[in-house]
Amino acid sequence: MGKRKFKAESKRLLELMINSIYSQREVFLRELISNASDAIDKIYYKALTDENLTFNQSDYYIKIEADKEARTLKITDTGIGMTQEELEKNLGTIAKSGSLSFKNENEIKDGHDIIGQFGVGFYAAFMVADVVTVVSRALGSEKAFKWESKGTDGYTLEAASKDSVGTEITLKLKANTEDENYDEYLEEYRLKEIVKKYSDFIRYPIKMEVTKS
Ligand code: ADP
Ligand code: MG
Repeated sequence: MGKRKFKAESKRLLELMINSIYSQREVFLRELISNASDAIDKIYYKALTDENLTFNQSDYYIKIEADKEARTLKITDTGIGMTQEELEKNLGTIAKSGSLSFKNENEIKDGHDIIGQFGVGFYAAFMVADVVTVVSRALGSEKAFKWESKGTDGYTLEAASKDSVGTEITLKLKANTEDENYDEYLEEYRLKEIVKKYSDFIRYPIKMEVTKS
């Protein structure tokens, strides 16, 4: 399906996030967990009105997997998933709340607080990752699709396979620099700390798995 370009607004927001030195990069995890939880909510509400669907609380969870050797962080959910069109529409454009938060930016004196105070959305992943891969399979579909992006220049979208409905987001963490060490996001204690700080209220279980190098 070839390479697609981000919408102009998305590109600006992405550049802003990637190029800014935010003290609170850790909030990327809050954003991904919140999206995962929203996606599970969507299945839950569907099940309330669709008699062919039953919602077993135990089937729905969010999983965080860190692979120290590969330097990847994977966030999986058993939520409603996204079709090809939804991947394109939702991740190729900055969605409502995320972009709105940034439009308010000018009214905020201390730029460093922006990310901590507002939902910034999916693109926050690029604060810590240089490649973001999303594999998703929508409820009611046999097909899965893979969306992948290295940041500002666009994304690719292609057919993929996935055994179950839901979404799997893999972050290839940025290389460490003298000033920044991204390896902290592969440490169990650190991940737990971030989850506790920002996602303590999430109603679904958040499982964690760290693969040592
Ligand atoms: P917001 O959550 O404020 O809408 P985001 O940038 O966080 O903005 O996400 C954009 C959209 O992408 C979401 O509204 C949702 O439709 C879709 N999305 C993101 N992550 C997931 C996910 N894990 N499962 C299903 N849909 C998702
Ligand atoms: Mg969100």
